Amino acid sequence: MTSCVSTSPFNGRVLGEFTVSSQDEIDQKMACCREAAKSWANLSVKERGQRLARFRDILVADMDGLCESIAQISGKVPTEVLLGEVLPVLGLLDYYLQHASTILAQKAIPTSVFQFPAARAMIYRQPFGVVAIISPWNYPFQLSVSPILTALFAGNGVILKPSEWSLPIGKLIIGLFEQLNLPQGLVVSLVGGREVGKQLIAAVPDYVFFTGGLAAGRAVMQQAAVHPIPVLLELGGKDAMVVFADADIARAVEGALYGAFSNSGQVCVSVERLYVQRECYDEFVTKLCERVKQLNVGCGADSDIGAMVTAAQITLMQAHYKDAIAKGAKSSGPIHVDGHYVKPMVIWDVHSQMRVMREECFSPLVAVMPFTDEQEAVQLGNDCDLGLNASVWSKDFDKAERVARQLHVGCWVVNDVLKNVGHPALPFGGVKKSGFGRYHGAEGLLSLSYSVAGMVSHSHLSSEPNWFPYTVERFNAFKGYIDFVYGQGAIWQRARRNQNALKTFRAYSQFNLAQSWCNLKCRFTSKRKG
Ligand code: NAD
Repeated sequence: MTSCVSTSPFNGRVLGEFTVSSQDEIDQKMACCREAAKSWANLSVKERGQRLARFRDILVADMDGLCESIAQISGKVPTEVLLGEVLPVLGLLDYYLQHASTILAQKAIPTSVFQFPAARAMIYRQPFGVVAIISPWNYPFQLSVSPILTALFAGNGVILKPSEWSLPIGKLIIGLFEQLNLPQGLVVSLVGGREVGKQLIAAVPDYVFFTGGLAAGRAVMQQAAVHPIPVLLELGGKDAMVVFADADIARAVEGALYGAFSNSGQVCVSVERLYVQRECYDEFVTKLCERVKQLNVGCGADSDIGAMVTAAQITLMQAHYKDAIAKGAKSSGPIHVDGHYVKPMVIWDVHSQMRVMREECFSPLVAVMPFTDEQEAVQLGNDCDLGLNASVWSKDFDKAERVARQLHVGCWVVNDVLKNVGHPALPFGGVKKSGFGRYHGAEGLLSLSYSVAGMVSHSHLSSEPNWFPYTVERFNAFKGYIDFVYGQGAIWQRARRNQNALKTFRAYSQFNLAQSWCNLKCRFTSKRKG
């Protein structure tokens, strides 16, 4: 049995010792979760919501204790825990409590009375079964619990594999879900790193929801492809912030500061590439450097920036910094590291070939570069392999939206940063190497369920016209039918030239009325079920 010790990024204090999950444990949890998921899937969405609603009360009841635990595990300052880890979960839960039934409701689909006479059609949503949720360390609570809630509302069971850098979060999350009236084994967690993640996929869950870096995302997809298991990949970002000279510069500077440095820049939607129009470039850089010096690094309630989680991330920041300086960039000062506390840094006069402009940095380091006009802003904004979020700043809203809509990203915001990804009704996810698939909002529930298309025939004919035997007469009748439905001319012209064909299918016509009735009935029933 292997065990791992977890320590706090703040001060290295030991938070606990955890036994790494064995293959036996994974297989056993998979079997239990699959059974639990079956009974969970049999509940209506409304009943699932009734059981999950209490999660809100549980979170709110011990907010201080919860925030303190998450802070110790993630190195976040208290406000960041509240706004980045807990609030988005509450928002998403509330949204699904209100809308999940409608989003997942069975839907009646109108059918053509000519092509599908006497038939009614519908689409309903089915849960996958067991969803494996593999989560990262930067928002270990939110990026685990939001997918868990989405999976549960959609009717699935969940096996969570949190990051090896935030081991205590699994126990904390499972403890919260255990307080709900859920089937035994419906939400379970594993302990371990990459190897356990691989073992989890090898145990063949029905869906893999992965949040993490590009390299791991590729490996997950490759392994899942063997079975194949569907995957959703939420990968890294290198978000652009585009500031036009006609923006409210004071507000944009504050926005850049928050977007680049909240959670020490360890946010997938951090501002990492800051493009500022030449007319206000010098003024912007000067103000940003002044403000960055005033940011308070520490762990108290009045600190802006907490501790970084991994030493490897600090090393990467130093490498990006050195590369940029060696290639001619200027900086707000030397990198200052004290334990896992790192002072935020601005570098400017950068160019597109520096590592800092090409690779995800995921640390409190932002690079500023000038641009001339709208066209160049779009070209620079898109000069990146990653495409998660972006922001555009201008008082000219038409221009800002025009530019934002040309950026190859999954989401964008005008005159703000980060906040948009917390909107519970807006889909979230990336394009290019930032991954694919969406969650949050309706799309989250649709991603974690699959559609089943159903059709019921009310025909009493002994044989349908398209069934065997095929004859020359039937062939000509069908040709006539196609010309009647899709051909040129007014309907009376098409009817007149295809009279013979229509006569062949006369027996069908008696069902047209019956079908209209079926469609109505189906629509009424699905509304009641929703
Ligand atoms: P990571 O890719 O190293 O690890 C993420 C998770 O995957 C961990 O739980 C890890 O143990 C597991 N894992 C790693 N290799 C695996 C494999 N081969 N099979 C199965 N599981 C495996 O990422 P990280 O360092 O924890 O997180 C940082 C990255 O996550 C950054 O790139 C960041 O941008 C990204 N991220 C993306 C989003 C988003 O929503 N798009 C959100 C947060 C973080």
